[in-house]
Amino acid sequence: MNFSATHRETFLQRLQSEPFDLLVIGGGITGAGVALDAASRGLKVALVEKEDFAFGTSSRSTKLIHGGLRYLKQLEFGLVKEVGSERAVVHHLAPHLVVPEKMLLPLYEKRGFGSLLTSLGLKLYDWLAGVRPEDQRKMLTRGQTFKAEPLLNPLDINGGALYAEYRTDDARLTIEIIKTAYRKGALPVNYLRVTDLLYKHERVAGARVMDEVGQREILIHASIVVNAAGPWVDELREMNGSKTGKYLHLTKGVHIVVSRQKLPVRQSIYFDVGDGRMIFAIPRDRTTYIGTTDTNYAGSKDQVYATQEDVAYLLKAINTTFAGVDIQSSDIESSWAGLRPLIHEDGKSASELSRKDEIFESPSGLISIAGGKLTGYRKMAERVVNLVAERGFANRKLATPHTHKIRLHDAFFSDDQEVRHFTAMTAFDLKQGGFDESLAEYLVHNYGKQAKEIVEKAATFEEDKGVALIRAEVMFCINKEMANFPVDFLIRRTGMLYFRIERVRQYLDVVLNIFSNAFHWPLPVAARERARVVKEIDSATLFLKL
Ligand code: FAD
Repeated sequence: MNFSATHRETFLQRLQSEPFDLLVIGGGITGAGVALDAASRGLKVALVEKEDFAFGTSSRSTKLIHGGLRYLKQLEFGLVKEVGSERAVVHHLAPHLVVPEKMLLPLYEKRGFGSLLTSLGLKLYDWLAGVRPEDQRKMLTRGQTFKAEPLLNPLDINGGALYAEYRTDDARLTIEIIKTAYRKGALPVNYLRVTDLLYKHERVAGARVMDEVGQREILIHASIVVNAAGPWVDELREMNGSKTGKYLHLTKGVHIVVSRQKLPVRQSIYFDVGDGRMIFAIPRDRTTYIGTTDTNYAGSKDQVYATQEDVAYLLKAINTTFAGVDIQSSDIESSWAGLRPLIHEDGKSASELSRKDEIFESPSGLISIAGGKLTGYRKMAERVVNLVAERGFANRKLATPHTHKIRLHDAFFSDDQEVRHFTAMTAFDLKQGGFDESLAEYLVHNYGKQAKEIVEKAATFEEDKGVALIRAEVMFCINKEMANFPVDFLIRRTGMLYFRIERVRQYLDVVLNIFSNAFHWPLPVAARERARVVKEIDSATLFLKL
């Protein structure tokens, strides 16, 4: 059966009537990774997400699969080794979605670590992560640094370095992992909020869940429950009466998006802003995005947006780092803000807190996982499922962890060359069909080989070509990726609200119409969903003063 939002009723019936080995709460990258690992080892898995998959931090990161160079400064060698080595693994699993990207690191006379220390640090970084010799760091002279990025303000730059990272789309990665978990037998469903836990002989044995689409309650029974609720982990621990000892410390990180014309950087740059912090400027499509901030956060976890202060901080950083660049608040096309679910440590500032993951086990058996990185999702999942196996299934022979071999598509790409070839073919098909061929890269990055299915479907619609392509995309996301609402499509399935916001405005009514027809919405529901998109556009483009 397709992973379609139109099969919701059937999925909910299964969730209520079948007992599961494992219930995962949270459909971010952590929960998705746990579901895939557990299902591929032979456990019967359900996953519930209170909003859309990747609604939380997993659609609001810097979108890098990276080793975390700055964690070397905090002497977190174990973390750097693990996530650094994971980069190549995740690239192999989905080469169209996790793309190699050289990062330029400008070096300054009066800030940062200087050339010698940086050179040693990057060498250590490459060594810990086992980077191939041809991709290892390259130190640059002052002249070479400007050649690599002529836009840099020459003021006190004395050299630079190039090192290897990968860029991705966090929400797409999460959704592809969710879909792969489904193919392996797991049952992940979005818009299901856990409102209480169920107990049997004082052990957690499932959850009471609110269906946010149909507004009814269901009960899900499972031998073990994993809490992978990211910034909401402590809410579940409170529900379980087990929030003792360590607790979460949330910090907010903001990104802004400007047009590539406004900030035409040649490649990704990671620069020192003079207050001890580092910021990325990353080209993507026809935009460049810049981030991030790192400030303590105590507001609503469901509505996290950039404020004027966040924007001013990032604009100052860009306008002083790049010469001849004068970006104003009015130049910002879009933005997003996410919460880091870090573990609190007394006396440490937001930036000093460790990014390591930690597992908490409650006396009644709730297993919670917090902290960590997008990049390390696979290893985190392995650790959680090892514990699940030990606690619940010691007498059952489960397969050993093998998600490093599970590609994130049935029709996968074997390497970068195949991705390039397929992108060229997609551009050709688009042109032949009268569509905008410049969308090929976007379509392949987003959907991999599934892009072919979308383009072929679009060719069967007799209407304006732009509308036909959007229609085919929306239908694909409803029928194969469990998109329930326009916001799911415009934010998590396509990133359109961040990187092509003008297309959101252009096609909003078309998208709304397709959802309305697919789900037979009465007018008030369609109006509510339209308002939801407009609110998201406003929140990404209008910045409140704190
Ligand atoms: P989330 O993605 O937040 O998922 C938790 C989910 O649980 C949410 O979707 C939520 O709706 C759901 N949930 C909560 N309560 C319930 C309930 N009661 N019932 C059902 N569902 C519930 N890492 C990298 O590797 N690379 C980067 O470039 C990077 N950049 C970052 C930049 C920023 C600004 C931030 C904030 C983080 C960044 N990270 C990065 C870290 C990374 O994004 C996070 O570690 C990761 O996304 C956390 O995923 P998660 O699944 O644990 O949490």
